[in-house]
Amino acid sequence: MNSKTKTEDLLEISEEEDSLTESGREPVSRMIEPVRVLLEEIGEDPDRPGLKRTPARVAQALRFLAGGYRMDIKEILNGALFEVCYDEMVIVKDIELFSLCEHHLLPFYGKAHVAYLPDKKVIGLSKIPRLVDMFARRLQIQERLTSQIAHTIQEAIEPRGVGVVIEARHFCMMMRGVEKQHSSAITSAMLGAFRNNKQTRDEFLALINRKANGG
Ligand SMILES: [Zn+2]
Repeated sequence: MNSKTKTEDLLEISEEEDSLTESGREPVSRMIEPVRVLLEEIGEDPDRPGLKRTPARVAQALRFLAGGYRMDIKEILNGALFEVCYDEMVIVKDIELFSLCEHHLLPFYGKAHVAYLPDKKVIGLSKIPRLVDMFARRLQIQERLTSQIAHTIQEAIEPRGVGVVIEARHFCMMMRGVEKQHSSAITSAMLGAFRNNKQTRDEFLALINRKANGG
């Protein structure tokens, strides 16, 4: 069996595996051989039965986990920006997020809390988790992810302020024993009124901490 037929064989991904990727069947053939090399280099035999389809699965999984590169902010927000009279704080909290750290390609996961003070315009509420997803499904560091979400909202609707807080646990810290297993990293990005006005910022922080404190 030469390496070409091997690759073709490995590319036959079952429908069940395919459906796990959500992104549908996208070309991953160029990723398969490098994953085989990785498996060899860590001391595995990529030809043993259990690993036979692993390179194709890894390739598909990476395609999905990095699917944010192929999402477009204009498409996500299209038709979801509305003019309103509402000028109180809008908060979407506990948005689950899963991302990959750009230093180790290991997952980090947690929750994002997003708030803004509208100035005549709002974003459809369901679009905010999608926005988080678009940036999370890329290679990230938590600080940049936080800031990209905040600045994107700022640019889209020019509110009086935006606040984003992310709490996440990083496998590259947990699995390598760099930090205690249960520690999480918290990052925040505060723009406009959330940066300049203590009362606004405190209101946001109080609202996102409410559940944690049982209040
Ligand atoms: Zn890392």
